[in-house]
Amino acid sequence: MKRRERSWIYERMIGQSINPEFVEGVDEFIQYVTDHPESSNPNEVRCPCVKCKNKRLWDADTVKIHLYRKGFIPNYYVWMCQGEGYPGIPERRPNEYRDMVFNTFGHSEDQGHSDQASKSPLYEGSSLSVLEMAARITSLKCEYNLPHRCVDGFASLLSEVIPNNSHMTDTFYEVKKIVKGLELSHQKIHACPKGCMLFWKVDAQLFACRVCGSDRYKQTSKGSLVPLNVLFYFPITPRLQRLFATKNILEEMTWHLKNPRVQGTMAHPSDNVSWKHLDCRFPEFASEPRNVRLGLCTDGFAPHGKFGGQYSCWPVILTPYNLPPSMCID
Ligand SMILES: [Zn+2]
Ligand SMILES: [Zn+2]
Repeated sequence: MKRRERSWIYERMIGQSINPEFVEGVDEFIQYVTDHPESSNPNEVRCPCVKCKNKRLWDADTVKIHLYRKGFIPNYYVWMCQGEGYPGIPERRPNEYRDMVFNTFGHSEDQGHSDQASKSPLYEGSSLSVLEMAARITSLKCEYNLPHRCVDGFASLLSEVIPNNSHMTDTFYEVKKIVKGLELSHQKIHACPKGCMLFWKVDAQLFACRVCGSDRYKQTSKGSLVPLNVLFYFPITPRLQRLFATKNILEEMTWHLKNPRVQGTMAHPSDNVSWKHLDCRFPEFASEPRNVRLGLCTDGFAPHGKFGGQYSCWPVILTPYNLPPSMCID
């Protein structure tokens, strides 16, 4: 456990002089940062001293001096701002996508498709599987909001340059088919336009609100019925399963138990008294550290800005609190 190994962090001084173990430890810290250039540039080290609080970048020597003079910020046993403990891409195991597909889903056709894609390398000798390539393309499309035709263009270009290509897809449509097995489903549930009730379960067939009598549908000029209010529900069970199906997340799901608590600091919900209160109230739930503790929050916004006054959107977001502060996933 990092906390025990790194007890030197808060043993900076011995009497009037600096602890040689601390000096050695700071060297280890600088070494860590230089060994992990993907998280920061060796000439721009994020300084975790009490003054810079990981908000400023300096060259390694300046950071050393800051740490000698002022010491580390409290409770900094895991060097998160320097990239430690992150589920970063370089640490990803080659079979992670495969595990995700395997463990999370039943044997549907889509799953079979994605499973197959997770097993076949992009080309002979490639470390990337067909599925990983497709997942990365999809993620880039979302990140930069690329139009379909742009993705089609790049996919077909890639497909041309890949040696002995047999697997690379050359349209976004094909990419989507491969990734479909990973998709987490959602349900649309109609709601009363005034928000009284959901047309769900026993009420699924009603045409008007049981509480206020408002119509469920409006009729378009062409005569088709359009629901006036729709709730998008993202079922929670497969999402929780996914947390446990991904190795690096799975390991951190019990982090709250090993949280290196430091008196007087509040870095994670598990430092809070209400967490302990829950432990007392529900000892059976608390006795299994893999049980997921969820925080719920919601806020409304107008998706079309102030000119679309009649539209509003209220996402209700659940956050698992088991994970370390560096891995917040909604
Ligand atoms: Zn500093
Ligand atoms: Zn109503």
